Amino acid sequence: MINQVASLQTEFVQRRKTWLPYGRQWIDEADIQAVVAVLQSEYLTTGPQIEHFERKLALRVGASYAVAFSNGTAALHAACYAAGIGPGDEVITTPITFAASANCVLYQQGIPVFADIDEQTYNIDPNQVAALITPRTKAIIPVDYSGQPADLHELRAIAKEHGLVVIEDAAHALGAAYDGQPIGSISDMTMFSLHPVKQITSGEGGVITTNSLAYYEKLLEFRSHGIVRDPVRWSQESAPVGWYYEMQSLGYNYRLTDMQAALASSQLDKLDRFVELRSEYAAYYDEAFSQFSLIKTPFQKESRQSSWHLYVIQLELEFLSTDRNQIYNELIAENIGVQVHYIPVYLHPYYQQLGYAKGQCLKAEKLFERMLTLPLFPSMTHEDVQDVIDAVFRVIGKYAC
Ligand SMILES: *Cc1c(COP(=O)(O)O)cnc(C)c1O
Repeated sequence: MINQVASLQTEFVQRRKTWLPYGRQWIDEADIQAVVAVLQSEYLTTGPQIEHFERKLALRVGASYAVAFSNGTAALHAACYAAGIGPGDEVITTPITFAASANCVLYQQGIPVFADIDEQTYNIDPNQVAALITPRTKAIIPVDYSGQPADLHELRAIAKEHGLVVIEDAAHALGAAYDGQPIGSISDMTMFSLHPVKQITSGEGGVITTNSLAYYEKLLEFRSHGIVRDPVRWSQESAPVGWYYEMQSLGYNYRLTDMQAALASSQLDKLDRFVELRSEYAAYYDEAFSQFSLIKTPFQKESRQSSWHLYVIQLELEFLSTDRNQIYNELIAENIGVQVHYIPVYLHPYYQQLGYAKGQCLKAEKLFERMLTLPLFPSMTHEDVQDVIDAVFRVIGKYAC
């Protein structure tokens, strides 16, 4: 009886009492004040805060231009438009990503082509990309998966050789660098997402950075109905009257509000601190699991400075008497908000209906069966990190075989 009570108590103590999500925003008083100030000002949308944020972000990542959008998916759509992706054009991307990285190609009636991943970094493998290039290939969309920059130099060389545009999906990688060069200044266009689980947030939001004036102008046009406000670019010699503007292409309303831009600017002030904390917690995980042979910790290339959006472990299923889903369920039962990033895009029913075959990226599919994302965000406490470590040892350790 006494023993039973004791063991029940141990179990109770071991399980986290509150839910720990895999990611969560960090909002402070400065953020709140920044939004409130806009609410009390003249402009709620496309006012001074948009340009202020765009300049601040471009400066931070070392790009000439930044264009803010209503979300990262809209930003990717705009980048595909600016790159000239049209019906039947092929665009090569990775299957280990959020569906938006490929959906943006479909929006333009292009054809997403999936290249398999590098087994170590889980980023797109440049050799696989090169092997898939055809006369119809127009662009490459690499993803800086989990915050670790993709092989951008190799991809750039391939793109240059074949006249392709590189649209980097850096939704995970604001604050990351490749050999010390900030992500956002390297590819033809780079997309950042401002969703609450990402590095910084504006609620919803996205940005494209570029060094090209031509792309910059196309992005601005696409964001606001295809309307051109610069008289130099009008079809008429001079403006008939003051109210005049021209719609020259089919654009959308993909604008960000000034409240959101103010929030994003305020969040950007904290980016370095956020990345520092994420890196610190990732290092704790690395250290704790370094001798734990049942999982693989994230491999990092020497030349890459990750922004640590995700901490993804791989289960060594050969040494385990269960599968990923059982371990997922048990960690969730422990209040540890593990996740799976991602279902290979082409395995989604929509892509299956389009005719994408299972088995086309075997490394991605193998990884998918084994991967789990552990909670990682800057407002975690050291106790939260320790709870995750304890639960991982307890749950996974049980299935050693
Ligand atoms: C979050 C994310 C997006 C989309 O960004 P939204 O702002 O949510 O539209 C695109 N690609 C990747 C890899 C992402 O993680």
